[in-house]
Amino acid sequence: MKILVIEDEPGLSDALCQTLRRENWSAEARYDGESGLDEALTGIYDAIILDVMLPRRDGFSVLRELRREKLGTPVLMLTARAELDSRVEGLDAGADYYLTKPFEMRELLACLRAITRRPEDTADAELQAGDLVLRTHQGGIYCAATGKFVKMSVKELHLLELLMKNQGRILEKEQLFERVWGLESDSEYNNIEVYISFLRKKLNFVGSAVRIKATRGIGYSLEAEA
Ligand code: CA
Repeated sequence: MKILVIEDEPGLSDALCQTLRRENWSAEARYDGESGLDEALTGIYDAIILDVMLPRRDGFSVLRELRREKLGTPVLMLTARAELDSRVEGLDAGADYYLTKPFEMRELLACLRAITRRPEDTADAELQAGDLVLRTHQGGIYCAATGKFVKMSVKELHLLELLMKNQGRILEKEQLFERVWGLESDSEYNNIEVYISFLRKKLNFVGSAVRIKATRGIGYSLEAEA
């Protein structure tokens, strides 16, 4: 997993990054709200650890902006115990979990595992966009308008899931490639194009009105008809 740590206390940030790397996760640190937000908006992270009190832009503002940009990345917020009252504000702003300082690294790791649990870990996970329903437990997609279902490969499911979670937002080819195939992959970069064409064929097959739009030279976005 790839985790973004937005925390201005260097000591805590280092400790967090070291802990994450010991779990064989990759960790990237940012020390203020503005650069943290920019980095988070790349969309390449599996989770974001976000401090509340940050220079240049506070954690709540960062979180609200992320959600406004329709970024669905799970966010774990950190705060001092004195700021506990702000807990409600954090949850309203779209935080997935709230941890008060000081905390144990064990606890933090457990939270991260909980908020990043992928849909396939949940027996009846479904993701919906327009008439399209992604049924991870059945390994395929279902169109609510036509009642048709089609099976998909694991990579197709993963790719479509990313697009559905970021509905209407352009995901860069590089981001998609990194998320689906991983950095160490030997796969060809043009795999993305091939898989997008597979996805389109399957959307057509089930008769969904959902479209995958290509933005030349940039990437792809999922458009669900209103
Ligand atoms: Ca702070």
